[in-house]
Order: sequence, then structure tokens, then C-alpha cells
Amino acid sequence: MSSATLSPPPRTLEIRGLGKSFGGIHAVKDISFDVKTGEIVGLIGPNGAGKTTCFNLITGFYSPSTGQVRLGGEDVTGKKPFEMARMGIVRSFQKTNILKSLTVFENVLTGHYLEARQPLWRTFFPGRTVREAEHSVRESATRIVHTMGLGHRIDTPASALSCGELRLLEVALALAAKPEILMLDEPAAGLNSQEARTFGEILKTLRGTLVRSILIVEHNMSLVMGVSDRIVVMHFGQKLAEGAPADIQGNKQVIDAYLGGGNQA
Ligand code: ATP
Repeated sequence: MSSATLSPPPRTLEIRGLGKSFGGIHAVKDISFDVKTGEIVGLIGPNGAGKTTCFNLITGFYSPSTGQVRLGGEDVTGKKPFEMARMGIVRSFQKTNILKSLTVFENVLTGHYLEARQPLWRTFFPGRTVREAEHSVRESATRIVHTMGLGHRIDTPASALSCGELRLLEVALALAAKPEILMLDEPAAGLNSQEARTFGEILKTLRGTLVRSILIVEHNMSLVMGVSDRIVVMHFGQKLAEGAPADIQGNKQVIDAYLGGGNQA
């Protein structure tokens, strides 16, 4: 797929003053940042910094206590996850969406449900349009599997995949929903350094081809620093710093937060 086939016009994801409290705990407090078209943005921070909560707020799994999420200037705060997905913001899930008894190809095929919605009667009386849709879905699934470097495993049951291959399949499933902005929550968890490097190379090829932008939460520092254009650092629910990877790596406040937080990074 070329970038020209990505349908809606470029849109910036704007996070403005986002906050979420659980009882007395401010899991996320007054967070603001943008994900612009064509960017890969890394969201990092020590354990418990609020990254996953922030993800859940953006993707509609939580409703925010304060603040706004805007997409292309439109207020999308509080939309349901399936509405966000239809608007182009799709997140990956660790393992949970993978059907182990299905092959890699079949898994990615099932992930195309957003695109392939059709009335029930069409299933029983398929016309040319339905057959064309089915063809295009199979073509898209094949392209995604190959892009994710799983071409040699296309007919392999997911149960036989390695940890690294499962991570790639998780991203492939998210890509099947045709995201404009792909959101990845610790996609490299459990990968060794070689697998993480390969994963990073594949991620970079997605931008501008299968997706427009990527927001990634990741503890693997060499991966996230290697793929991101910009890094947002969270600490105790708040934004501690934002900047280019090289600036963030040399930022004393960030270094102190990680050393003080006992993080594994
Ligand atoms: P990690 O890197 O360990 O995954 P994180 O940066 O993703 O951490 P969060 O999981 O967002 O951090 O958690 C931020 C804070 O909010 C933590 O103190 C956590 O205990 C708290 N928290 C998160 N979800 C809930 C919840 N559903 N109920 C109560 N507290 C929560």
C-alpha cells in the first residue's frame, strides 16, 4: 500500500491537559502533547508513571477526569474504543487478541472486521462487490503479514510462534484495522536485543506506508530511542520532559527519575 491510499487527510492527535484520578491517586495529571502526521512518538517513564493510563484515556478505555483528546481539531474525548478505532486510532494488545489455533494469515484476516462490515444477507447472496471486498481483504492481510516479516510463517498456527513472532503478530492484528495512528503499549516486552532491533526496523517501515503515525510506550530504551522522532517522558503521572531522543538521553531530570525510580531501562 502506498501512502496515497491512506484515506482521510493528515490529522494531528492532540492531548490537552489530560488527567485521571482513581480515588485519591492522580494516575495522570495535566498531560499535553501532540502526535503529528508522520511522527513516531515515544512515551516513556518509570514503572507506575501513568503511561498505560494515558494510553487508555486516548483510546477510550478510560474516560478522563480532566482534559481533551482531539483528532484533526475534532474533540474525540470520551469516545468508545470502537469509535476511536473507526476514526483511525488503533492500539495493539499483548497476546489477548491472538487466536492460537488459527494460522498467522487467518488471525490477520479476522482483524479486518472493521473494513469488511457488511449486511448479513450479503454473506448468503454474495455479489461481485462482496467477492471484491473479500479479495481486497485477503490481499491486505497478505501484505501486512509480509510487511511484519512473518511471510515465512503465514500458514503457521499462532501456537507455534516464538515470543518475538507473537509480538509481530500483535502489531499485524492492529494494522488489519487500518489505523491512521497506531498505538503500541510495550510491543517489545520479552524480546531479546536482536529481536528488538529487528522489531524496530520493521516499525520504521510502517510509518508512511501502512500507518501515518505511531505512539509507542516502551521500556526497551534502545528500541524506543532508535525509532522515535520525539520522546515524551512521564513521571508520577505528569510530563517531566519532551524532546528529541538525544536531548532526552542527556536530560538530568530524566536520568534522576529513572535512577530514583529503580526502573529496568
Ligand atoms: P508500567 O510501566 O509499570 O506499566 P505505567 O507508567 O503504565 O506503569 P500506570 O499503569 O498507568 O503506569 O499506573 C499509574 C498509576 O495509577 C499507578 O500508581 C497505578 O497503581 C495507578 N492505577 C492505574 N490503573 C489503576 C486503576 N484501575 N485503579 C487504581 N489505580 C490505578
